[in-house]
Amino acid sequence: MNKPLILVVEDDPPVRNLITTTLRTNDYRYLVAANGETALLEASSHNPEIVLLDLGLPDMDGVEIIRKIRTWSNLPIIVISARSEDTDKIEALDAGADDYLTKPFSVEELLARLRATQRRLSYMNTESVASSSVFVNGKLRVDYAGGCAWLDGQELHLTPIEYKLLCLLSRNVGKVLTHTYLTQNIWGRSWDNDVASLRVFMATLRKKLEPTPDSPQYIQTHIGVGYRMLKVE
Ligand code: CA
Repeated sequence: MNKPLILVVEDDPPVRNLITTTLRTNDYRYLVAANGETALLEASSHNPEIVLLDLGLPDMDGVEIIRKIRTWSNLPIIVISARSEDTDKIEALDAGADDYLTKPFSVEELLARLRATQRRLSYMNTESVASSSVFVNGKLRVDYAGGCAWLDGQELHLTPIEYKLLCLLSRNVGKVLTHTYLTQNIWGRSWDNDVASLRVFMATLRKKLEPTPDSPQYIQTHIGVGYRMLKVE
């Protein structure tokens, strides 16, 4: 099997070295870019499998790079940011990033994110997923064509909004979806009230979906950011 190719976009040499050393010792191939212009060039000419993208670059905002890449590619982008502010992560996710890591991060954390992204990639690329209108994740089954869902063989009685939420999350399994993304897709707008309503619907959905709502198995909360459906093994 070919070793996956990762594009590392980071202007800070110590962080870049930590990442490339980790990749090298874990059987990944990599390309590096220390600024936005090189990043776009490498991304378009070498077709990497995953991009690790620092948001603070000398010549370009990382969010701008995400927007540019998204005009021609869906390749997974994991944002790496020194800025712990939620607004930066949210902006990056809304621009089309798949996941994020906040500096300082551990080598284990980096590898875990890469593995999760690869799992999602190979899941998305299987022919049965692309052509199927049924989503299966652990004991959860969503029939997009039929407009219904089951858990462990029992049909879930969901309100239209709960079902819509479940579809948005499952169609983007593994990806962090922001409050703005979810409310825009449900109500076509994102006011403060909508985010509050989203929390309520998420809570009722979880009550129906999660065997133990206090330690959710399917839907992960990213406080101040959004939600993600996990791919259950
Ligand atoms: Ca930087």
